[in-house]
Amino acid sequence: MKKQRFQTKAVRTKVESSQYGEFSSPIYMTSGYQFEDAEDARARFTGEKDDNIYSRYSNPSVSEFILKLASLEGAEDGIGTSSGMAAVFGTFAGLLNAGDHFIASRSLFGSTVSVINQILPRWNITASLVDPSNPDSWTSQITTRTKLFYLETPTNPVLDLIDLELVSEFCKKNKLIMVVDNCFASPYVQQPLIWGADIVLHSATKYIDGQGRSMGGAILGKSELLEPIRFFCRQTGPALSPFNAWVLSKSLETLPVRMRAHSENALEIAKRLEVHPLVNWVKYPHLPSHPAYSVGVKQMKTGGGMVAFEIKGGVEQGRKFLDHLKMFSLVANLGDSRSIATHPASTTHSKLSEQERLAANITNGSIRLSIGLEDVEDIWEDLQQALQQK
Ligand code: PLP
Repeated sequence: MKKQRFQTKAVRTKVESSQYGEFSSPIYMTSGYQFEDAEDARARFTGEKDDNIYSRYSNPSVSEFILKLASLEGAEDGIGTSSGMAAVFGTFAGLLNAGDHFIASRSLFGSTVSVINQILPRWNITASLVDPSNPDSWTSQITTRTKLFYLETPTNPVLDLIDLELVSEFCKKNKLIMVVDNCFASPYVQQPLIWGADIVLHSATKYIDGQGRSMGGAILGKSELLEPIRFFCRQTGPALSPFNAWVLSKSLETLPVRMRAHSENALEIAKRLEVHPLVNWVKYPHLPSHPAYSVGVKQMKTGGGMVAFEIKGGVEQGRKFLDHLKMFSLVANLGDSRSIATHPASTTHSKLSEQERLAANITNGSIRLSIGLEDVEDIWEDLQQALQQK
């Protein structure tokens, strides 16, 4: 068949129908699969026959989700996981051995920082957290045991941008595996593999679900590179449930439409916040005032649905603002059809020290908005009235 465009792939990619010819894919709620005979069982276990054995290893609903997501990211293969953090940990655990080292951007999701600082060191796996905007500082961190470079862009929560092409050049030169958490953008907005990344991770809980219903994650890239990660995940069990995979697969059908609408609303809100007298700064990847605007327009099709800003008056005014929002939800999630506001310093990034937060550009007054799909005028009215509270 002729190569399909992104939106068509999102809608049309599916596994073949079963003997019933159903139009909508069924959910394969089964833990095991029946073998035809002893020989069939043997051949599946040795890998001579590529077929399902047990749902911790593989499941048709999970395979369909991965088939679709991999086609959208331009990846050869993928692994479904129970959450985004299972994808993050599975990647580290699959690729790194005791004594290994890696480089990571210091602007990362709070739980990822906890894994790097508090869990991986138990196996003597260490990381250098670098300033992603200062490439000159990266080379001196490389040791003989450095294996990979890990980053998020846009960063969580303050939407700094990292030039993927630049990191890829650095990784190729130094033989490092480049791993990108793409959950803030989604594959509609940005496809890191095109810019030279080796592995892309997702918290599918975010834009891929899009309606805050299910946890899930994914690891995508070349089959050969994924092999040790697949082995780790199959043996240790962070498997994606077939039900969640089905929900996520269905959600991917509307990803392009949703991301365009999220991005349109978010850009408009960012523009209005930028000229509001009670706002110190706004960061949005497609806003010309973003310090890395040229990177944003180069590697991101649209600016995405996330906006960060700093309210004048620090923590106190920030909390007041959150308490006076009427329509926005205060929820520890993002990428939902409903708009969400978060105060990172006291929630998602509270486990970091103030110094670590400032190194990642998270000030006490920073607010993170996940702009939803409501009418943009209703979103603005809510923000405006909450900003004005004394
Ligand atoms: N990566 C980023 C950038 C996130 O924002 C999150 C969650 O907020 C995760 C990973 C973890 O995903 P999950 O909550 O699905 O484990």
